[in-house]
Amino acid sequence: MSYECNKCRHGYMKPVASDDDSEYTDTFECDKCGYQSQIPSGVIILSQLLSSIIGAGLTGYLLLIHVSKMMTAFQFNDYATIWKNLPQAGAATVFIAGFIFILYKAFNGFLLRKRFVRSK
Ligand SMILES: [Zn+2]
Repeated sequence: MSYECNKCRHGYMKPVASDDDSEYTDTFECDKCGYQSQIPSGVIILSQLLSSIIGAGLTGYLLLIHVSKMMTAFQFNDYATIWKNLPQAGAATVFIAGFIFILYKAFNGFLLRKRFVRSK
């Protein structure tokens, strides 16, 4: 797979081996103008997508269970059950927010990659 330079539109983005290589991104450099960019690797984007979708699905299911338990308990004025389920529902909400953030990051990385892929 080759990437087109976003800046000069003539060069190709070549992978650069740098000292501070993070596992989330690959550094690429244009062979014409020297423009550098960090492009997230496809494997990272895919694993972010999968883990966030599966994670959000599972926690969403858990949240639904706790919320429905709380709704039922509310009808019977069973406040002990409500308080028991409230922390779990809250934790599930926080986790879902985290998964949505990962999904957002994966989507951003996907768009960034798409901008560099040569359409030929
Ligand atoms: Zn260039």
